[in-house]
Amino acid sequence: MKPEAFSLAVLDWYDRHGRKDLPWQHDMTAYRVWVSEIMLQQTQVATVIPYYQRFMETLPDVEALAAAAVDEVLHLWTGLGYYSRARNLHKAASIVVEQFDGHFPRSAEELMSLPGIGRSTAGAIASLSMGLRAPILDGNVKRVLARYHAVQGWPGERAVHDRLWALAERYTPGNRVNHYTQAMMDLGATVCTRSKPSCLVCPLQTGCEARMSGEPTLFPGSKPRKVLPIRTCQMPMLINPQGEVWLERRPDSGLWGGLWCPPQLDDEAALQGLYHRFGWKAGEAQRLEPLRHTFSHFHLDIQPLLVRVEPGLSVAEEGQVWYNLRQPARLGLAAPVKKLLKRVEEVI
Ligand code: SF4
Repeated sequence: MKPEAFSLAVLDWYDRHGRKDLPWQHDMTAYRVWVSEIMLQQTQVATVIPYYQRFMETLPDVEALAAAAVDEVLHLWTGLGYYSRARNLHKAASIVVEQFDGHFPRSAEELMSLPGIGRSTAGAIASLSMGLRAPILDGNVKRVLARYHAVQGWPGERAVHDRLWALAERYTPGNRVNHYTQAMMDLGATVCTRSKPSCLVCPLQTGCEARMSGEPTLFPGSKPRKVLPIRTCQMPMLINPQGEVWLERRPDSGLWGGLWCPPQLDDEAALQGLYHRFGWKAGEAQRLEPLRHTFSHFHLDIQPLLVRVEPGLSVAEEGQVWYNLRQPARLGLAAPVKKLLKRVEEVI
């Protein structure tokens, strides 16, 4: 199919079947599209919607986001995972306010200069909210294009990645680029799905090489499998006589950067050092049920320990808090920490 015929088929499908009522499709500003695109990276639409709505109610524009405390942003992100996305969002908002006078730059290249905005996200913001001809290549679009042209190989490989970008560039039209962009994302999410593509209702079926091969799900190629290593840690849930749990803010960079967690120790023996550090008296450590949390590059096996402590006169300083389970402060918590706090609430 020629590029014009391809985009016309996609646009025609969009007019009849495309999604037009997602929360970020109302009042489509660059800010609203940007936040939705960042949330949608690695996360399904249905999961994102309530987070997006809460985020917009609290931080309705880029000025509000730039002025917010990073803890507030991480709190609104708690449960979505990949927290560097939230930290970058916060940093980029400050840059837009300070260097661009509160207006998002009007080109995909300049948008890419902001933290956390890659080429596809920049394309989505530029095309959806500004109507600029800029291609996107998110996971859904990769799948549609890889199948349409039966592109061999895993899109993480440089040559495959470059080929798909060239195709994305080729088919992106100058007219109605906002609808075309939305249509390609929708097509991948609802028709050309990962394991059960509905080729019979697909607007691209006549020219699709993967469909003609009879095995459309072989495209795109999968990531080479690798066994994830396992790391272990002890996580003491230190409870004071008021039933509050000791949490510390993690450094901004690294695992769970900027989020609040109980101390993470290599082994149980390190507990004594912790009590000594704060001058606390502690009861016996009680082992709770272990918990596994899987990151993209390793499994973390957490052994939670319940310990009642007498903190004496020591007080929480900057980056430390006695977390009240019944009146929780608005802090960013990693998903397993949220689970552990729930367990603690049930047993104390
Ligand atoms: S015809 Fe099938 S495999 Fe090809 S793009 Fe459409 S849904 Fe995907």
